[in-house]
Amino acid sequence: MPLHILIVEDEPSIADTLIYACQSEQMLATHVTLGQLALDCLKQQPFDTILLDIGLPDMTGFEVCRQLRRFCATPVIFLTARDHEVDRIMGLEIGADDYVPKPFSPREVIARIKAIQRRLHPENTPAVAGLQLDELASRIYYHQHLLQLTRYEYLLLKTLIQQPHRVFSRTALMDTIWQSAEETMERTVDTHIKTLRNKLRELSLKQALHSQEMIVTHRGMGYSLLP
Ligand code: CA
Repeated sequence: MPLHILIVEDEPSIADTLIYACQSEQMLATHVTLGQLALDCLKQQPFDTILLDIGLPDMTGFEVCRQLRRFCATPVIFLTARDHEVDRIMGLEIGADDYVPKPFSPREVIARIKAIQRRLHPENTPAVAGLQLDELASRIYYHQHLLQLTRYEYLLLKTLIQQPHRVFSRTALMDTIWQSAEETMERTVDTHIKTLRNKLRELSLKQALHSQEMIVTHRGMGYSLLP
């Protein structure tokens, strides 16, 4: 099912940009120019996300948000020309989920929509070798079971998941993950790989999951998640 986005924006050029951006991501876009029309639309059918302009001809986006929250929980992203702290706080206090200050790039808006959807439906992000990354919550699941990881174990596994076929040298991993640490040795990487493997193995045994050797060692080169 494609995501269905409600765009509430009276500026035609901005609306067109947003519609185009949504469509190029295989999302459906419905566009209205008035707050009241947005409320009517929401009463008639469900949407996945609402992009809501603050300066609308008939009422403010804040008022639209206040009213729609009485009957619908769809995530709201405010589009705001006034990049004031007050607007931001007001926006988030009346039940908005995020905001993007104008001018924005369509890519940024799409990224926000996707981030909200990931937060709502972390199960929809693709799993790699049974591992599912929930970046917003800084969590990793292994076959739907939450892994209890330390900060560095999390960062290490996240790095491997994000480029599962890439062979990371120890130096590359140290530079990416331990960049702020005072003293790191190549051994540190090996130690964390070992504890990670143990945790994955333990969870596999405990949950009777199909066990495979996770994290591949490439002799003299480094590590990768997948062979
Ligand atoms: Ca406007």
